[in-house]
Amino acid sequence: MQEVELSEGKLADIRFALLKWFEKNGRHWIPWKLNADGLPPKPGEVIDPYPILVAEVMLQQTQLKTVLPYWEKWMKTFPTLLELANANEQEVLLLWQGLGYYSRARRLHQASKVLLNSIGAKDLSDTHSWPKDLEGWMELPGIGRSTAASIVSSAFDAPSPIMDGNVQRFLCRFLAIPSPPLKVSNQLWKFINKLIDTSKPRDFNQALMDLGYLVCRPKDTFCTICPVNEYCIAYSLRKVASFPVKTVPKELPFSVVGVGVVINHLGQILIAQRLEKGMFGGMWEFPGGKQEQNESIETTVVRELKEELSIDVDIFRKLISLEHIYSHKKLRFEVYLCNLVKGVPLPMASQQVKWVRYIDLKNYPFPMANSKMIEELGKYFSRNNLKSS
Ligand code: SF4
Repeated sequence: MQEVELSEGKLADIRFALLKWFEKNGRHWIPWKLNADGLPPKPGEVIDPYPILVAEVMLQQTQLKTVLPYWEKWMKTFPTLLELANANEQEVLLLWQGLGYYSRARRLHQASKVLLNSIGAKDLSDTHSWPKDLEGWMELPGIGRSTAASIVSSAFDAPSPIMDGNVQRFLCRFLAIPSPPLKVSNQLWKFINKLIDTSKPRDFNQALMDLGYLVCRPKDTFCTICPVNEYCIAYSLRKVASFPVKTVPKELPFSVVGVGVVINHLGQILIAQRLEKGMFGGMWEFPGGKQEQNESIETTVVRELKEELSIDVDIFRKLISLEHIYSHKKLRFEVYLCNLVKGVPLPMASQQVKWVRYIDLKNYPFPMANSKMIEELGKYFSRNNLKSS
């Protein structure tokens, strides 16, 4: 693929136009990018890397507007790295509940411990004791190149380009790249490394992200007010909508899962903690499992609870049916209310099992798909005037 070559003079003009646009139109309010006085930092000024670390890990699979309330709550609960490193994993997962991709929370927790160990508790408030280069951050669990670049750029004003989804879309259009972004990431990195303004890298990176978010949007693109439209190849070709070139989405494997919400004579509900390893490790769930071929879903629930907990149950009501799409699979949950007929629940496929009151479910971190089940269970409890004791 032929690469676009721009002269140093043109690159300087593009940088200038982007920074000028950013000064007036950028999102200068993002809370983790402000200094201790609540102001945007000046060029070269160092700001606290911890709030940025938390935000950037949250942003790995999630949009800024979704992340904001989670980040605010997080910073109130764990205002410094020390509090996070000393927290227990259940607290951390509970706070992450609803954001999805829970391995991020666990890795962030592990990263906080590694950092605390290497920096030392008494030096945490000295920003100069923290890692300042990409390599230092990339050694931590869960921190890849993009996250590391965002941290060093935002905290230390380091000249590391950032390539989030907004920047990627902008570059693919600006250069009219005829392949899906993932296939040309080397080319994109090469170009952005040349384009970055090394005198104001933090503002430059934010300018590109903000331009992608506010102007070079996925749909409703505002090319006529774009500060760099005179250099944009897709715009000059009148083919903005054709870029970025899309990858054909793969069909996700689909399964049906039978779930049993077992209620005992005290109105308590049976929950199980998933094994540490694997998806949603350490989180809690209502027990169940995949439907087998030629099996009725009611049989699945009864079989799974016998296999996983060594109990016999009786299904007495359907609670809810819901679909959930994960990055690699699609599941339909068929959820049933059950009575315990025989046996004492044993954690044969989990870390532990517990009988809990409905109002106490909120103290246990559950994967996102379970929140609708819990909501529906709450309706069932209030309709039937039930209380757990
Ligand atoms: S001109 Fe349009 S397509 Fe090109 S960079 Fe600007 S907003 Fe994006």
